[in-house]
Amino acid sequence: MLLLGMVVGVANAAPTTEVPEQLLKRADAIKTADHVEFLKVLQQLDQNAADLPVDEQWKLRYLNAWQWAFDGNYPRATTSLRTIIEQAPDKALRLRAIGTLINILGFGHRYEEAFIQLNQLAELLPQITDKEARYAAMADAAQFLIIARQYDQAVEYADQMMKSVPDGMNGCRALYFKLHALFHGKTVRLAQNQLQEGVDLCMGANESLLANAVRTDMATLDIEQGHPVEAVHLLEGHYAEVQGYEYPALMQYFNVLLAKGYYRLGDLVKARRYALATIASAVENEISEPLGQAYDLLYRIENQQGHATEALAYHEKFMAADKGYLTDVSAGALAYQAVKQQVQTKKNEVDTLNRQNQILQLQRELDHKAMETSRLYIALLLTVLASAGFWLLRTKRSQLRFKRLATQDSLTHICSRQHFVDEAEQVLRQAARTTRSVCLVLMDLDHFKLVNDTHGHVIGDLVLKRAVAACQQHLRRNELFGRLGGEEFAILFPECTAAQAQERSERIRQAIAATPLWGETRHVVISASFGVACTDRSGYELRQLMIDADNALYRAKRDGRNRVIYGDEMDAVSEAGVASIHGAVHDERLADLPH
Ligand code: GH3
Ligand code: MG
Ligand code: MG
Repeated sequence: MLLLGMVVGVANAAPTTEVPEQLLKRADAIKTADHVEFLKVLQQLDQNAADLPVDEQWKLRYLNAWQWAFDGNYPRATTSLRTIIEQAPDKALRLRAIGTLINILGFGHRYEEAFIQLNQLAELLPQITDKEARYAAMADAAQFLIIARQYDQAVEYADQMMKSVPDGMNGCRALYFKLHALFHGKTVRLAQNQLQEGVDLCMGANESLLANAVRTDMATLDIEQGHPVEAVHLLEGHYAEVQGYEYPALMQYFNVLLAKGYYRLGDLVKARRYALATIASAVENEISEPLGQAYDLLYRIENQQGHATEALAYHEKFMAADKGYLTDVSAGALAYQAVKQQVQTKKNEVDTLNRQNQILQLQRELDHKAMETSRLYIALLLTVLASAGFWLLRTKRSQLRFKRLATQDSLTHICSRQHFVDEAEQVLRQAARTTRSVCLVLMDLDHFKLVNDTHGHVIGDLVLKRAVAACQQHLRRNELFGRLGGEEFAILFPECTAAQAQERSERIRQAIAATPLWGETRHVVISASFGVACTDRSGYELRQLMIDADNALYRAKRDGRNRVIYGDEMDAVSEAGVASIHGAVHDERLADLPH
């Protein structure tokens, strides 16, 4: 998704003589559209700052903070914005400062702090009547929610924006956020003509950058639906224009989508060129989805051309970028839940405290009254207190539930991919110190697509659960078991030789093959293939173990499936071996691209 926080604005014509109030207003309006002029006006205002009335001084302070943020001086901008939020008398200005701060925190992936500010924004919003300030703040909120991948809430803010478009604007930004959130939220399937409406509206408002952002969604849809020619045509047609913005986030999307389009068309030269351009346009140390996708594509291009060494190098970069991205995805989701829970817990704690105070006070009054009645009252009040405690406990419990959700796969209730990777890395770190042997087993169900096609998804899901149950019967408490995605699983045996790992895998293989299951009309045949790799040959890096186990798994598939292969049993890295890395570990992500 794109970060468009600080790049959109509306130009105003410059009048000749202006009082400070008009100057401030104009500076505010041209911030992005005519940045050079903005800087001049800002300087002029700064020089006469001491003569400005208090209200105007606060506004000037906001513009300066905004400028620091635009410049990338986030610490300075953040400090100043926090002062405005805490002290400025004008609530509308406070609202805008909160919006800008949320933007900065979102860019920096500081999700938890951003969600706390978002709560403040939501509390302040109903008190503000200034239409522009409301619209801008809601846009900041929607944009941040898109960055944090809370698409449903982003759609709600976009809807609110659409209902209160300020005079003189046409609602392009509102529609842009709505379409973008719906497109990425994936709960509603958007059609090209709906996206085209967004492009048209934004072109009508001279917001070509936003129109081009919508075009990236159109091109993504084209590629997903198997129309790479249309995607490439659309993107090439606006490429030069996007280059002109000098805005890396959007440029990266254009580049990576072109790379994907050309890859689909079999033009590997252009695919490579645009993938390299994606990497060149990435901001250093910035976590981005296109970056991982570009490395992945380069890996596959090198692989197709038989360049095994280059392929492996790109694959490693892909894994690193992908891990950073996935960690960021779960950080966003977790922060959202954490802040939601914190707010609720705080509220309950305050309620409980209030009730405790009431009880103390009443108890004192009751001292003067008859013992019998007072006891009755106290009993009653204690019940109230107990129920408040009950709510507190419930909130705490649901906090735990959210934590579990982030670490567990929802279908099979075993470790999620991310959690498996984190835990496995920890086990490997400890084992490396004692040079204990650890084995990693990758397991992939055989012809699972056929199971789905023949018996339907419901039976497919049941097969997944049964296969997991069969594995669990043969696993011990300290052995890690995770779902990497789709029908791919991983097991980590923390104390195990290669021979033992093969034997244990063989038993699991037999258990899966012996799992009886009836579909609606006939028996479902289940089997799985296994690839084993151990630290004695692969070392203690999870990445290398994954690559080796995956090579072995590929071999198991090639040799006829329903079997266990240990890394040792194959040649060094053969070309076919390299080809397998994504074959097994990343099927799911690559499903939309030809092999
Ligand atoms: P191979 O023996 O080579 O592994 O063939 P395969 O058919 O198992 O592999 P392929 O990767 O072509 O297909 C995997 C299928 O798994 C495709 C996808 O629709 C299905 N799948 C992925 N996740 C789920 C899920 O959660 N439930 C169900 N029912 N199917 C899933
Ligand atoms: Mg499979
Ligand atoms: Mg697979």
